[in-house]
Amino acid sequence: MKIWKLAVFLAGICCLSRGAEVVETKSAPNLWTLARSQARIHRFATLFSAQDVRDRLSTDAGIDRAIAWCQRTGVTHVFLEEFRDGYQADRAALRHAKERFQAAGCVTSGCVTTTQVGKPSTGWKDTISCYTDPVTQQRLQAIFEYAASLFDEIMIDDFWFTDCTCAECEAARRARTVTIGDKTYPVSGDTWEDYRRELMDRLSRDRLLGPAKRVNPRVKLIIKYPQWYDRFHERGYDVVRETADFDRIWVGTETRDYTDPRWGGTVPYEGYFIMRWLGGIGGAKCGGGWYDWLGTTERTYVEQARQTVLGGARESLLFCYGGLQGTTGPKDVEALRANLPELLEVARQVRRHAPIGLAAYKPPNSHAEDESRVFDLVGMMGLPLVPCHQFPASAPAAFFSVHALKDGDLARKLAKFIQAGKPVLLTDGLARRLAGQVTLDARNVHILPVKGDPKSLLQLSQTELDEFRAPLLRPVKTSFRAPGRVALYLFKPAGWVVENFNDEPVEVELNGRKLTVEPRGWRWRWE
Ligand SMILES: [Zn+2]
Repeated sequence: MKIWKLAVFLAGICCLSRGAEVVETKSAPNLWTLARSQARIHRFATLFSAQDVRDRLSTDAGIDRAIAWCQRTGVTHVFLEEFRDGYQADRAALRHAKERFQAAGCVTSGCVTTTQVGKPSTGWKDTISCYTDPVTQQRLQAIFEYAASLFDEIMIDDFWFTDCTCAECEAARRARTVTIGDKTYPVSGDTWEDYRRELMDRLSRDRLLGPAKRVNPRVKLIIKYPQWYDRFHERGYDVVRETADFDRIWVGTETRDYTDPRWGGTVPYEGYFIMRWLGGIGGAKCGGGWYDWLGTTERTYVEQARQTVLGGARESLLFCYGGLQGTTGPKDVEALRANLPELLEVARQVRRHAPIGLAAYKPPNSHAEDESRVFDLVGMMGLPLVPCHQFPASAPAAFFSVHALKDGDLARKLAKFIQAGKPVLLTDGLARRLAGQVTLDARNVHILPVKGDPKSLLQLSQTELDEFRAPLLRPVKTSFRAPGRVALYLFKPAGWVVENFNDEPVEVELNGRKLTVEPRGWRWRWE
């Protein structure tokens, strides 16, 4: 058996691991012991893609290496994937790996990634399929039957959508009908959004959930929603209907580096926003968050981990074992290991506390127009948000954007909220749309100049930010002075987190107390 040298450095203690067996120094627990003892609070997981199963888990030596990596990283849950990119992993390899991981003390689940399933979409043609096509529908069902024959829990990675506009899809959209096998279902409208949402939800029931549960009545299916929340509805994700239909949900928190040329453009606060927003929709069904190494550095990789934990996730999935062995993966994982004890401590506190601050209202299937993902940018202004999918009538303060127009009764509800004297932050875009319907000249209404460019909010000066925050934080009895790109999270009964997304240290003032926060660092206190 090979000797594995460990780079785990935890509280100054080095541990040595030999094969699948972890040897501890006597004074401190290693990450494996710690992760197992804290798994009920927060669990770390990874995915072995169908290709990883073929390339890295088809020999016992490969499985030994994978188990040792999980133990060094505190990963106690592995998802072993059955299908991805047109390739179906081998049954014997999956069964053997499942047994080995279980014997080593890991929880095991399956996974399916619906890429290259059948007839290519006219849109993202080398990845996404046309699901109007009956043969593709049958293939899809066979993949899920296969996965359900192997595992009692199956994750579906975030390619469960379509962007096809072929002649068959077009005819079905115009006819306002979805056909699955010998069943035809009506569609409420004639837009692509209407057709795709109906198609993907009916397929979920008739080709995934139904057949999988006939093969294995114990099986639970998890729908993992992507990170691009403002466009879900356009490609067929319906967070209300699908969350109701599936057994569990999962949340993409892979924000990566804002400045990365290929993967950039998403601010880190989004991980927290989407985790909380979908967590509110899913409730007890919400399992965890999912992030990867693509386009990250060690610092931004750890930020993804922090955002996922602050968002209330019960589990963090590190995508994926094979990917994490190359490029920036090893350094990212090393940084995560060093931060794991603190992440688990924060996760424990987050479970005991609830976020407070400005309610941030995004109705399901709402349209961003020119205020795409504005919530993430408002979070980067140091305003503590409490994301929600229903009108926050009882919130102490709230932020509203054009997304709220999806609520047909918005004008009446908002007028009542304003009349109650509670602070309201409105985007300039929403204020324009509500002119003549709601009186907005009250003293408690503040207009945010988004100017159709949410990212411009990153340029606001500290003076402007301090002025915005002061009246909005008054109901939660908090004052906060800080430059941009510093997030504030407030919790009840009592707790706060200040997170610095800048590459320089910052000086902030929270309730009159001065704090220095390290570059890409955080400070917190819980009571
Ligand atoms: Zn099509």
